[in-house]
Amino acid sequence: MTRLGEWLAESRNGVFFGGAGVSTDSGIPDFRSAAGLYTKNGGDSPEYLLSTECLHEEPEKFYQLYKTELVHPQAQPNAAHHHINTLIEAGHLTSVVTQNIDGLHQAAGTQQVFELHGSAWRNHCVGSEHHPATLEQVMAQPGVPHCPQCGAMVRPDVVLYGEGLDMDVLNGAVNALANADLVIVGGTSLNVYPAAGLLQYYSGDRLVLINAEPTGWDQAANLVIHGRLGETLGAVIEEMGL
Ligand code: NAD
Repeated sequence: MTRLGEWLAESRNGVFFGGAGVSTDSGIPDFRSAAGLYTKNGGDSPEYLLSTECLHEEPEKFYQLYKTELVHPQAQPNAAHHHINTLIEAGHLTSVVTQNIDGLHQAAGTQQVFELHGSAWRNHCVGSEHHPATLEQVMAQPGVPHCPQCGAMVRPDVVLYGEGLDMDVLNGAVNALANADLVIVGGTSLNVYPAAGLLQYYSGDRLVLINAEPTGWDQAANLVIHGRLGETLGAVIEEMGL
């Protein structure tokens, strides 16, 4: 059996910690690989375009990038989401901590998902009543969406650059990582903080990194696999007979 297969088979409290690379096979581009947003987007940086400042001062620019590049309502979970859910159902992993906002882990059946950066599927207006809005309502209006009830701008419940993480989500993720007997980190360049810094709460010696290319955390991991997530997890699940 491979080392990953052995560790997963022994694990009862594992956590999967992921990023945009988990969803690339669903047709959602990541930020930092060759086909990612950072490479494509000349001019304004994605950090500015996806910041609170841009949302409030130049909402048209924010929504232009957000609606065309970040939100993909038709996307379906891919093999990686399904394999992770299989490992949860088999009792080897307990939860997912994700930097993604696409809701695809839940669409694959996973219930315990700590969405560090929120979800594009939840929205509210910036008026005093914070009326909720659906993603459908946001996407149906051209340009900047407005609240049908009060007319204020609608914003996604996602954590923009310049904003802090939700404390309940953060505490849940920290708890899961602190109690984990194995952590698989996959499909993330681990460049975005404070999300990447949460890995310090895992104090065990089974930190596994699965990524298509090297990351700055490779030295800190106990096992590094440079490969695609869907294939790597698919092979290990087969090996485990799941
Ligand atoms: P990133 O783009 O910085 O890094 C993604 C990493 O995944 C890259 O190193 C890439 O080589 C790797 N990768 C891509 N496809 C892979 C695959 N199939 N198998 C294995 N590895 C693969 O992404 P990040 O670290 O998550 O940071 C980007 C930030 O942008 C996050 O904060 C996230 O919230 C946000 N984001 C979210 C989505 C989404 O919701 N799907 C998409 C893009 C960006």
